[in-house]
Amino acid sequence: MATDTIASIPTQARSKQLRACLLCSIIQLPVDYRKHGCPNCEEIMQMKQNSERIASCTTTYFDGVIAVIDPENSWVARWQRTSKYVRGMYAVRVKGRIPEDVEAELESRGIKYRPRDQTDQD
Ligand SMILES: [Zn+2]
Repeated sequence: MATDTIASIPTQARSKQLRACLLCSIIQLPVDYRKHGCPNCEEIMQMKQNSERIASCTTTYFDGVIAVIDPENSWVARWQRTSKYVRGMYAVRVKGRIPEDVEAELESRGIKYRPRDQTDQD
């Protein structure tokens, strides 16, 4: 059942250190973004070794954590080569918007960006 895929992480673990990607909402430490970028959307976000980029493409304002997600239902899967999210922790809601140039990049690929600050409607 879906219920056992929902995990809540202890309050202490939700330190300000954790950041959610504004595009796919994966939760990582800044050091992970710096080292590897976003495992799902680095192709577009290009956060690797770019602290400024990490600051504008990820946020500490997120809500709810899912430990496992269903790749079939991810809209990001539509444009990913791998067609699924990597395993990890994902935020249910993410506050904020991707930078305009990222949105433009998505648009040029025929992808409509949907802010992650509300529950997915599809
Ligand atoms: Zn991402």
